Amino acid sequence: MSSSEESISTPSSCRILAVLNQKGGVGKTTTVANLSAVLAQSAKRTLVIDLDPQAHLTIHLGADAETPPSGSYAVLTGAQSLEEVLVQSRPNLWLLSSGIDLVGAETELVNEVGRETILRNALQHIRERFDYIFIDCPPSLGLLTLNALAAADEVLIPIQPHFLALQGFGRLLQTIRLVNQRINPALRVKAILMCMYDSRASLSVEVKNDIEKFLESARQNRTPWSGASVVPVQIRRNIKLAEAPSYGKTIFEYEPSCHGADDYRAVAQYLFGQISAEPQPVSLGDTPACEQTDAGEKARDKA
Ligand code: ADP
Ligand code: MG
Repeated sequence: MSSSEESISTPSSCRILAVLNQKGGVGKTTTVANLSAVLAQSAKRTLVIDLDPQAHLTIHLGADAETPPSGSYAVLTGAQSLEEVLVQSRPNLWLLSSGIDLVGAETELVNEVGRETILRNALQHIRERFDYIFIDCPPSLGLLTLNALAAADEVLIPIQPHFLALQGFGRLLQTIRLVNQRINPALRVKAILMCMYDSRASLSVEVKNDIEKFLESARQNRTPWSGASVVPVQIRRNIKLAEAPSYGKTIFEYEPSCHGADDYRAVAQYLFGQISAEPQPVSLGDTPACEQTDAGEKARDKA
């Protein structure tokens, strides 16, 4: 694996966001891939960490998810340092890749003291080189997710507004509260993002209203989510967002003028501000060399 190609400067502060929902298929990976792309296009130095053994983010960005050890596995098991395994994926965008070997990390670390804070410790020396770090969490609340929550400053929770959307939501918040009390007192839920939203479907609107009511009632109590809000821009259901990963492309490389691209730009503007109003599409051909494009090639061949 190649290490970073561009030198990484030292911005003054870095925000680490865990993108978490223990349900699969709600839009976590799509959100990480495309919000990080907006920020990278806006000259924000951005690192994305794939902590899901399914490696969807790694594949979405066109990197290799098949040659072990994956970057995340190497870092969590202490085999290699973060600096050694980071891969530059696009201008201003770095990736810590995942692979199926990450499944084994949970059991391999079972007797390790401090196993929940390995990622946090690994990021300590490197975080100030970035403006934003996103952690794409697996669909579970196990050790990998605990590592994400221990390392993060903020949690972004994507929700797909369908039947049973809020089932398990209490357990998710409980896990965040426990990590907040025991490991990471600074951890806060930043926002809930509605993904695959259909404003014509009454269920979408109902789920959104239920969450808004819940967050409103939580404001009086001191919890990690008492300052959270529902992002006022929703990510609409858009087929282009579902197609882009199979080409190893972000939505801005695949179809920069579609609803999906507009929505992710607007969400990035709301959450992070100060992004360029009109990010330019990035041509894959212009990106610095990233050794790990095989998976993207294969995905493109299959498509
Ligand atoms: P998660 O990471 O939570 O499992 P993903 O981001 O992988 O969820 O999304 C699940 C599936 O839905 C993927 O196939 C993805 O391409 C697709 N998808 C995500 N967001 C949208 C959207 N707004 N409209 C249509 N399809 C979407
Ligand atoms: Mg995912």
